[in-house]
Amino acid sequence: MSRPRVVIIGSGIIGLAHAITAVESGFEVVLFERDARALGASVRNFGTLWPIGCAFGPEREQALFGVQRWKEVAAQAGIWTSPKGSLSLAYREEAWAVLNEFAARHPAFELLEPPEVLSRFPAANAKGLRGALYSPHETVVHPPSAIAALTEYAGSLGVEMHFGTPVVKVHEDEVETSHGRNLRFDHLVIAAGEEMRLLFPGELAAAQVHKCRLQMMRTVSQPQGFELGAIFVGDLTLCHYPAFRDCPSTQALRVRLEAELPGHHRRGVHVIAAQHHDGSLTLGDSHEYGNDLAPDSLTEVDELILDALRDFVRVPDLRIASRWQGTYLKSRLGQTQVVLHPRPRVTLVTAMGGLGMTLGWGLARETIASWSTP
Ligand SMILES: Cc1cc2nc3c(=O)[nH]c(=O)nc-3n(C[C@H](O)[C@H](O)[C@H](O)COP(=O)(O)OP(=O)(O)OC[C@H]3O[C@@H](n4cnc5c(N)ncnc54)[C@H](O)[C@@H]3O)c2cc1C
Repeated sequence: MSRPRVVIIGSGIIGLAHAITAVESGFEVVLFERDARALGASVRNFGTLWPIGCAFGPEREQALFGVQRWKEVAAQAGIWTSPKGSLSLAYREEAWAVLNEFAARHPAFELLEPPEVLSRFPAANAKGLRGALYSPHETVVHPPSAIAALTEYAGSLGVEMHFGTPVVKVHEDEVETSHGRNLRFDHLVIAAGEEMRLLFPGELAAAQVHKCRLQMMRTVSQPQGFELGAIFVGDLTLCHYPAFRDCPSTQALRVRLEAELPGHHRRGVHVIAAQHHDGSLTLGDSHEYGNDLAPDSLTEVDELILDALRDFVRVPDLRIASRWQGTYLKSRLGQTQVVLHPRPRVTLVTAMGGLGMTLGWGLARETIASWSTP
């Protein structure tokens, strides 16, 4: 008897996580990718697996599951990972108050006074440092090589993949490609990233998602011996992710940052620094919202990112080797994941904002668990 067929649109992390989970669960899986390889958000991000950014409760569980799955699959597929955790550094008294409030609620995290920060993480900027929060779970992958290896791994498990093959229409139980091929599905997963024009645009608009574009940079390889030792973030990031939003001091920090750093506020800049296996640092980012964004990559934004970076980390060589932009969909309603069912047996997984690399495996587990197994 033939196995039920899952068709997947998109070979970013969401498509691949669904493809691998579905084939492991016994489904026949066919994946279509419009480009010759994945070129969307999944190869343009920091590669930080980021439970520290997730609200406590089911989303944090989903994120921790995501880290665990990345590590398991990485071991099978030969993907480099750096499981060194994250360091949130506080310079303003309000930021230090946020970290203290957070650590009081969640004692599993380590609150570090400046001397300990500087002895364990010598790259931290000592000037004005009030302390830091260390979290052990965050992990770095290198997005372009990790997604390429994951694609190969999916193929080795039996996922049938068609690159350079856009899906242009979804019929009742068939997809139609631009090459005029129709393929029947039992379940369809649309993981098309930022694409909003082609498949179910009305449903996406009704779900109130819009585009967000980010500017990113990568430094040259740092001199031998320079180790960041963890993913570094500073005061600005504490106002960005849901995890810290319930701390009473977050609002006071936000007000102060908006007054002191109006340019950063206007451009939606907060700063993450993540080191990769070649010694380079990936730096970003900014946030510009809308559906029709101008094409410019702004020098002003790069300068804002580098200015904020210098406040919390001393980087030996800040020459920039490459700059790029990435785009993701984001919910206007504050949701960090949007899963739609525009038709029976059709699942559209979208709008993970800045957390799709972290949450993708958990979303895939939920999607496939909702189907009856073959
Ligand atoms: C700059 C930046 C930094 C980020 N940093 C992080 C981070 O550090 N940690 C984290 O967890 N998340 C991060 N994110 C978020 C994360 O990258 C995204 O949530 C995630 O990559 C989305 O994956 P996806 O598979 O949905 O989309 P994509 O990676 O964009 O993949 C969608 C794929 O679908 C294909 N496609 C589209 N339409 C069709 C069609 N009709 N037919 C066939 N194929 C089609 C596209 O070509 C593309 O390859 C970041 C995002 C950005 C942009």
